[in-house]
Amino acid sequence: MSFELTDYLPYDFANRRHIGPSPAEMAEMLALLGAESLDSLIDEIVPKGIRQAAALDWGKALSEREMLYRMQGVADKNRVHTSLIGQGYYGTVLPPAIQRNILENPAWYTAYTPYQPEISQGRLEALLNFQTMVIDLTGLDTANASLLDEATAAAEAMTMAKRVAKSKAPAFFVDHHCHPQTIAVIRTRAEPLGIGLVVGDPFADLDPEAVFGALVQYPGTYGDVHDFTEVFARLHEARAIACIAADPLALALLKPPGEMGADIAIGSTQRFGMPVGYGGPHAAYMATRDAHKRAMPGRIVGVSVDARGNRAYRLALQTREQHIRREKATSNVCTAQALPAVIASMYAVFHGPEGLKAIAQRIHRKTVRLAKGLEKIGFTVEPAAFFDTITVEVGPLQGVILAAARQNGVNLRKVGDSRIGISLDERTRSAIVEAVWHAFGGDLADTDFAPDYRLPKEALRDSDYLTHPIFHMNRAESEMTRYMRRLADRDLALDRAMIPLGSCTMKLNASAEMMPITWREFAQMHPYAPADQAEGYRELITELSDKLCRITGYDAISMQPNSGAQGEFAGLMTIRAWHRSRGEAERDVCLIPTSAHGTNPASAVMAGMRVVVVKSAENGDIDLADFRARAAEAGDRLAACMITYPSTHGVFEETVREVCDITHEHGGQVYLDGANLNALVGLARPGDFGSDVSHLNLHKTFCIPHGGGGPGMGPIGVKAHLAPHLPSDPATGEAGAVSATAYGSGSILPISWAYCLMMGGAGLTQATRVAILNANYIAKRLEGAYDVLFHSAEGHVAHECIIDTRPFQHSAGITVDDIAKRLMDCGFHAPTMSWPIPGTLMIEPTESETKAEIDRFCSAMLAIREEIRAIEEGRADRENNPLKRAPHTVEDLVGEWDRPYSREAACFPPGAFRVDKYWVPVNRVDNAHGDRHFICACPPVESYGEAAE
Ligand SMILES: *Cc1c(COP(=O)(O)O)cnc(C)c1O
Repeated sequence: MSFELTDYLPYDFANRRHIGPSPAEMAEMLALLGAESLDSLIDEIVPKGIRQAAALDWGKALSEREMLYRMQGVADKNRVHTSLIGQGYYGTVLPPAIQRNILENPAWYTAYTPYQPEISQGRLEALLNFQTMVIDLTGLDTANASLLDEATAAAEAMTMAKRVAKSKAPAFFVDHHCHPQTIAVIRTRAEPLGIGLVVGDPFADLDPEAVFGALVQYPGTYGDVHDFTEVFARLHEARAIACIAADPLALALLKPPGEMGADIAIGSTQRFGMPVGYGGPHAAYMATRDAHKRAMPGRIVGVSVDARGNRAYRLALQTREQHIRREKATSNVCTAQALPAVIASMYAVFHGPEGLKAIAQRIHRKTVRLAKGLEKIGFTVEPAAFFDTITVEVGPLQGVILAAARQNGVNLRKVGDSRIGISLDERTRSAIVEAVWHAFGGDLADTDFAPDYRLPKEALRDSDYLTHPIFHMNRAESEMTRYMRRLADRDLALDRAMIPLGSCTMKLNASAEMMPITWREFAQMHPYAPADQAEGYRELITELSDKLCRITGYDAISMQPNSGAQGEFAGLMTIRAWHRSRGEAERDVCLIPTSAHGTNPASAVMAGMRVVVVKSAENGDIDLADFRARAAEAGDRLAACMITYPSTHGVFEETVREVCDITHEHGGQVYLDGANLNALVGLARPGDFGSDVSHLNLHKTFCIPHGGGGPGMGPIGVKAHLAPHLPSDPATGEAGAVSATAYGSGSILPISWAYCLMMGGAGLTQATRVAILNANYIAKRLEGAYDVLFHSAEGHVAHECIIDTRPFQHSAGITVDDIAKRLMDCGFHAPTMSWPIPGTLMIEPTESETKAEIDRFCSAMLAIREEIRAIEEGRADRENNPLKRAPHTVEDLVGEWDRPYSREAACFPPGAFRVDKYWVPVNRVDNAHGDRHFICACPPVESYGEAAE
């Protein structure tokens, strides 16, 4: 390749990181679609009436290095002190082997929620370890696979207690020694449901007859350790439910909740390896007794068998229950905290029971030394018995001591006006304890004190935990690394193949975007650190909020909700508060189309609203006549409508402005579910075409990875009039907060900001356009083989398309499940199945996928159609065919083979790679068996290899 010395070859690959098809490939795709250009295609698809006037622009897109340089500049503005603030957030050591092999490993973080169990066995096993760990530590029977944070888990415990309590008393009791943010979130959640709250001392103020349940904190937020056995017995006498928020590390030493008689235990597993991260993400846990397992919110991993009778894991009981039960769902939790739960479980595997006990003992002994030193200096330390937290009465010295500690790089907790709280943790070194003494005016050495305990004998734990062999494996790093690798290899994540999940937007999570999250300046910031230490976070959050406002047309953002569903709740509560502020508290009707995501009705009910369902028209659009009628019927009871745009049917409805206008005419507010924002960014802004509030799934459109079922972020954007009613700061303990910390899972916000910086406004817009191109290309390629159910009058789809598989049930006995499982043989994760219409597949390729990968998917889909045709035409058996028997494993390559199709056809269908073949680790999983024989902890070793009963 010769060149002239005057040539200049522009290096312009910046946006190609996120944009799959090359310009040449795009030209081919446009040709197939018969479109002149991408511009003309987009003009045909996105209704003119909603197109935004001005292009999205905030200057030049940054390169990776420029972004990281900018990011480091912002990180440097965070001054990370040693935070001994505690209050639910503690220093912890993430073992480097886990950091590198899980937290920083796309095989783990780019996976989806394990709804397709055959390709999720690795993370299902890790989550089962998590549940086993929680069950053991709490001494209860059943645990779920994580909730969003401790405060929301506490609120879930309250509503669950209400569901299961025999007592019909109207109120819930909350220990005044619960963390303030927990009390705040419980207040927010109780109010719309009409639950009265009593906050007080469980030993003095609790009237069991007056409540359906009570929540205590163990150890208390100020450090006190109590045995609640008698409190719980009194509750049970009154047929009320006993809930406890327990620190899992303390449970390594203390009597477990189950042995005290608790019915529900919740808490945070943050200190099992997850950095405080300015509030998250961390996995909360929930455990309960067998009797209540069916009422538990969130996902539960269970054990079942596959078609060969081999053990296989899958989600149990109420999988995707919101889609089935809608407004009767037990909760709106969808995305939870799978990745942080996996990390916590690996932390337990890494340390084992002795390791956890040693860590807990060391922290406790350090705290005792700290207390002795403070007593020697002349202070009175509360409480008498504690684990890792003490509170000291300091009177007028509070300000001086806090400032002196800060001077030495240590943050202590300000408690009221005259006390100081101190929590030690796994990271606390002698020098830090000495620095605290120094701030209190003492010059002592850590070595002055002998090891000692201040735990009451009767509160000590004597039961075993983590007895399963998995927590006793040889922990040489070689072995640990291979264990994590083996599990990762069982799963199909984005690092192997496209995951064309409609509505879920499984797009690239770029490496450069992921790098900052483990930087010390972001990871080690305590959520309640003084604001002047978190200037970098403030700048990042302000900048990101500003960009999100420009993208959506809203005026203000709250970063508090840490999932999309929680954003829905937050947004509806904002609408509710606005109506109340105008003296229209009676507005409580929420119009929701049948096609809405299941979390929508579930969230509306949590916000105290009545759901009125609106029909869909034949073409999938909202039935405008029905919408108008329902809105008029509601009249001055209309609070809101919840719509999704583009619709969950994958089309840009022309009538969206009208829907908004009708809602406003009747005094309601428009909640626009922002999960499909990937089809709008840069082209149209919800805030301009009539919506008042939306949540944005940053883990969909804005590149935060799904983590195999969380973390996520669901900030809400609102128009100016709603801004005063956004969620309030949880640290105040007042009602109005929806999660434990002001900015939700702060430490993953750099991902979305980095994405915006590296794309620029034009790059983001191009991503939207290519996402639409890719979806239309797939729809076109599958045309003739499958029916695309919904499209615009011109025959286009938006950024996803729904194909109908129902006809094959009749013609060949083939279900949507069979197709989904067969796709695994081809090396793909199935599209979204049976939602919003049963028996359909919703395909969303996103802009990240190349033409080659999309073509590989289309070849697989077309080959599957031919396999179906062979059955239809009697050339293949109706039962014994590659679809019904899918997926196929290596086991199918050996031993007897008596099927009418070849092993070659079974294991290497079109789409499957030969050398890099993804081998599904189990054959088809039997869901019903798992629900009949419900097991949600690691099964005993003897049962390995056991056959189906
Ligand atoms: C993903 C999704 C939600 C829920 O978001 P989570 O973050 O999983 O809670 C709500 N609505 C739609 C349309 C979605 O696709």
